[in-house]
Amino acid sequence: MSLGFARRMWALDCPSLTVDATTLMYGLSGMLTIPMPSFLIEHPKGLVLFDTGIAPEAIDDPVALYGQELADGLGITGGEDQKLDRQIEALGYKLEDVTHVITSHLHFDHSGALHQFPDAKHYVGAGELPFAHWPAPIGAFCYMPDQLARIRNFDWHEVPGIDVDLFGDGSLVILYMPGHTPGELSLKVRLASRTFILTGDAVHLRAALEQEYHFPIDWDTREALVSLRRIKRLQESEDASVWITHDPDDWAEYKHAPACFE
Ligand SMILES: [Zn+2]
Repeated sequence: MSLGFARRMWALDCPSLTVDATTLMYGLSGMLTIPMPSFLIEHPKGLVLFDTGIAPEAIDDPVALYGQELADGLGITGGEDQKLDRQIEALGYKLEDVTHVITSHLHFDHSGALHQFPDAKHYVGAGELPFAHWPAPIGAFCYMPDQLARIRNFDWHEVPGIDVDLFGDGSLVILYMPGHTPGELSLKVRLASRTFILTGDAVHLRAALEQEYHFPIDWDTREALVSLRRIKRLQESEDASVWITHDPDDWAEYKHAPACFE
């Protein structure tokens, strides 16, 4: 196998949430503002998007979309320029340029703008699509039937319970990380300068990674902890930087669009 690299990676500056911290990790208190980024990755064989964040209309009117109670609990902050389409266009791309979309899982804050990419190839973890339509009660509020309906007939490729090397050169490897949901995925991105592991929701906060704390409403706690430990092992063996999607310190530490990693 010849080894390759992704050319550039941008963390897109999408809206943030302000939530009760104990919903992210037991033992925390107070409110925490957390980022909700998508990642755009340029590779010689395609333009790849990892996660699409919340639905764009949630920025305009979260109550209309989610209802008063959930909207109040989410505390969405973001402007027109933070909508995913604006972020992608600001980098000089059209939405149609995106060839591959990898969705870490189908919770509303990771999959809300999927409908804007009807012609891309879509990747999702094993079991995620049926589970999203018939979820376990504990996290059911995170799956939104209306939003799932508009992506039903897309070109879905299910990652079959293994890691998948997207372009066969080792630069973009979809990592199977079940636990948070049945089909949770992370993504390894190897650039010329460094390697990242983008966690999705396989882990939510750096403190949780360090202390091996599971998320309060995971689908399967035991599986989630195996995935969390696997991320730590990969971090070591691949000499990778772990970028935890929702961690505010990671967001502050790593640069984001318009700056990129090469
Ligand atoms: Zn989630």
